[in-house]
This record gives sequence, structure tokens and C-alpha cells, in this order.
Amino acid sequence: MRVTLLSYTKDAERLCASAAHSCYSSKGASDLMEEWDERKGARWLGIPLASGHQSVIEHASYTFSIEGVSRSLTHQLVRHRLASYSQMSQRYVDMKNADYVVPRSISSDPLLEERYRALMERIWEEYRELSKKVPVEDARYVLPNACTTNITVTMNARELWHFFELRTCRRAQEEIREVADQMLFLAREASPLIFKDAGPPCISKGKCPEGKMSCGKPRKELRAL
Ligand SMILES: Cc1cc2nc3c(=O)[nH]c(=O)nc-3n(C[C@H](O)[C@H](O)[C@H](O)COP(=O)(O)OP(=O)(O)OC[C@H]3O[C@@H](n4cnc5c(N)ncnc54)[C@H](O)[C@@H]3O)c2cc1C
Repeated sequence: MRVTLLSYTKDAERLCASAAHSCYSSKGASDLMEEWDERKGARWLGIPLASGHQSVIEHASYTFSIEGVSRSLTHQLVRHRLASYSQMSQRYVDMKNADYVVPRSISSDPLLEERYRALMERIWEEYRELSKKVPVEDARYVLPNACTTNITVTMNARELWHFFELRTCRRAQEEIREVADQMLFLAREASPLIFKDAGPPCISKGKCPEGKMSCGKPRKELRAL
């Protein structure tokens, strides 16, 4: 898989911090943008975020390219509704030689992997045969969840926080957790003030809401340095 941060709001932290502080100042955000420095920014953003006033980070958006992941992953991803998506089409892109993802739990067992790969070969044989006779938009019905795809996703920082809470948690499935981890590192590199405390609830809230379902192992490796 490959996860790239393609683009994000210019001056995201300066913008969100100034917008946040404009709620408590007689000055407008245009003047506050000029006054901003990193120390003020940390305070202007830190206070509203700590009190749950998260709408202030909706002003910043981040666009990622997520490539070589399964359709199973993207089906989970697109359940996040406050986002924009553009996904590779199985109608317009030739899938005859498309690749597929092998989950680690299967690739770690040689016998399971052999059976899995044999099934994938069989599926693609059928797909190639079908696509000689019916439109590829219909032949694709036999393709598996494992089939690889590329997707471009844009989320604002508030939705990213929410996405990270759900998808960097150990309760999330492994492939989407790997993608969410990479997105978190990229977002944090771009906007450390905004994403410093983002991550699963054991990091962002300092406690796990899962009760009996909790893994009991806080993801300390995701804490900002
Ligand atoms: C571990 C795990 C297991 C899951 N298992 C299942 C499963 O078995 N079956 C299944 O169907 N899904 C499952 N899901 C998907 C899950 O139910 C959500 O659809 C998905 O995580 C998107 O999250 P969301 O709805 O909170 O947020 P988003 O769509 O990202 O929206 C963000 C927030 O905006 C608000 N919002 C968005 N739309 C509305 C709306 N229409 N009305 C009111 N408020 C809104 C909510 O506060 C929401 O939390 C699972 C998710 C996880 C992480």
C-alpha cells in the first residue's frame, strides 16, 4: 500500500488558530493571522480543542492518495460520510491483470496462502472469460473484496480526528488501521499543533471507551513525541 498526503490547506494551523481566537477577540481573523506565532497558535488552538470546541479545525482540509489497498478497505473508508472521494473505476479500468491483497493472517500460513492464491487465480480466469462475453461492468461482479484499488480522499481536520479515533484503534481491522496510522503520521507532520493529541481514544482521550471489548493495550507508539 502507498499513502501520500497530496495537498492540504495552506497555513492550516495559523488559519484555524486565528479563526478560533476570533471567537474571543474584538479583532477579526484577518488581523489575528498577522499577529500569529507558534506560541500563540498553541494557546489559541489548545484551549478550544481541550474544551471540545472542535469546529475550529473544520477550516483545514487534507487530501490523501491511498493506493494498492483492497476494495474491502475502501468499503470501510467510504462509510465516513464527511469526506470527499474519487475511486478507481472497475468499469473504465481494465481489471484483467489487477492485483489483490493477501491479509497478513493468511500470508503467515503457507497452506492457507496457497489455497487463497489458487482461488484468486480461478476468479480472474472466470473474469477474463466473462469479460469476452459481457460488458466489464457486469463481469466485475465476480471480482473479490481483495481486489486492489486506488482512492483519493479529502477530510477536514475534525473528521480526520474522528476517523483516527475509530480507525487507529486496535479494534479496527488491520489493513485500514495501517492506512489510518500512516495518515495520522502525515497529518501530524503537516500540522503538529492540530494533530498532536489525535489517535485512538486511549491517546486522544487518555482512556478507552470500549469497556469489556477493550484490548487493554494503549497504543503508546502513536503518542506525539
Ligand atoms: C471497529 C469497527 C467496527 C464496525 N463494524 C460495523 C458493522 O458491523 N456494520 C456496519 O454497518 N458498520 C460498522 N462499522 C462502521 C461504523 O458503524 C460507521 O459507519 C463508520 O465507522 C463511520 O463512522 P461515523 O458514522 O461515526 O462517522 P462519519 O460518517 O465519519 O461522520 C462523522 C460524525 O458526523 C456525525 N454524522 C454523520 N452523518 C450523520 C447523520 N446522518 N446523522 C447524524 N450524525 C451524523 C456523527 O457524529 C458522526 O460520528 C464499524 C466501524 C468500526 C470502527
